Order: sequence, then structure tokens, then C-alpha cells
Amino acid sequence: MTRPPRIAMLGGTFDPVHNGHLRSAVELRDALGLDRVHMIPAPQPPLRDTPQVSPQQRLELLQMAIGDTPGLEADARELERDGPSYSVDTLRSLRHEYGEQARLVMAIGWDAFLRLDQWRKPEQLFAFAHLVVIARPGHAEAPSTPLMELLGEREVDSVSRLMASPHGQVLRVTLPSAMAISATHIRQSLEQGKSIRFLVPETVERTILREGLYQRWQSAY
Ligand code: ATP
Repeated sequence: MTRPPRIAMLGGTFDPVHNGHLRSAVELRDALGLDRVHMIPAPQPPLRDTPQVSPQQRLELLQMAIGDTPGLEADARELERDGPSYSVDTLRSLRHEYGEQARLVMAIGWDAFLRLDQWRKPEQLFAFAHLVVIARPGHAEAPSTPLMELLGEREVDSVSRLMASPHGQVLRVTLPSAMAISATHIRQSLEQGKSIRFLVPETVERTILREGLYQRWQSAY
């Protein structure tokens, strides 16, 4: 019998993509034995201000960042839809693509998890996917009571328990290289003309500087 595919979605604003996203995606792939991690930029994140860099530019930075990394994919499906991007719609489309037996995971960082109860119909996601929550340095706040209620009895304590079913469970993971990198810090550094070297892949840094993205004035380096 062939093993059902193991697929993850890592959605985000990627404004811009950074090594915290990329290393998390690679380590998640290895920790969960994933066949593919879809990294999916959101055009209009429902819970954020509109990013200043266009969705197309954020996608292009993501594509160049991933390069030929096995198992990682820059996925444009949310850019092809009109209106705000809801993760449930994206999960529905991934489920449709990979079939009922696929092990589908929605991966989010701890900070995003803490905001999950503000989502539109958050419990719906469990009809399509598992939820894997990645520990993120600097974000250790405890979940609220509504969030704990939302999780209910869904939490499992191992990858094998998670992968025993196609969807509906929750697993918390701490990845080996947890990194305190955020896009906010990168945008602030660029605005202030400070270096972002080693926070993003070299090609991403070069493109950001060449195109003048996120910079109010030309940087000094
Ligand atoms: P911003 O600072 O603009 O809010 P961000 O760095 O949090 O951006 P997002 O694109 O919003 O990046 O994040 C997409 C997903 O990746 C979220 O689930 C987020 O929690 C997760 N993530 C971002 N950075 C890290 C990191 N350094 N380690 C683990 N997960 C991360």
C-alpha cells in the first residue's frame, strides 16, 4: 500500500520572506516527513494592514528565496483569487488537489496561533487539515481560554499520532533552529538604512536593495 501524501501549507504575508520562514519550512519538512510544503503569500491578509510591497513582488522574492530547495514550493494560488484570503478556502483547494487520504497540515508560528480565535470560523480548518504550531522565540504568551476551548481534545503529542489521520488534530513543535527573525524587524532595518545581511537569502537582499523596496531613502551600505 502506498503511503498517503504528507503536505503542509505555510501561509503568510512574506513581507518580505526571511530565513526564519525558510529554515522553519525545511525543518518542518524533515520533522514531519513532508512531501511538499506550500509557501503561500496572502494578497490581502484579513488581520493586517495592506503591505507596501505588491503581492507579485512578494511572490517573486519568495520564489528566488526557495530556489531549488527540495520539497518547498512558492504557491501563487491566493494571488489568483479575488477578495480577502481566508486560509480555510486555501485548505479546501489543497484538499481537493491531494485527495481525501492526504495528510494535510496547516503550519503556523506561535504568534499567529495566538490570533486564531479572531479568524472567521477557525474550527472549519480542522475539517480539512491538521494544525501544527511552531514555537517562535519572543512569542511565549499562553493561549486564551477561547483558544484552548477551540483546540479541545484535538492535541496529540507525536508526529505518528498526527499522521494517523488525514486532518483534525493539533501538534505543537519546537524546531531545532528556532530563529528570532521577523519581517517587521527587517522592514524597520531597511527603513533606517541598517543591514539585513544573513536575515534573508543573499539574492533576496540584493533584489530588495536594487529595487529600493522597503527603503525610504537609499541605504548606506
Ligand atoms: P511580520 O513581522 O510582518 O508580522 P512575520 O515575520 O511574522 O511578519 P509572516 O509572513 O507574517 O512573517 O509569517 C508567516 C508565518 O510564518 C506565520 O505563521 C508566522 O508565525 C511564521 N513565522 C514567521 N517568522 C517565523 C520564525 N522566525 N520562526 C517560526 N515561524 C515564523
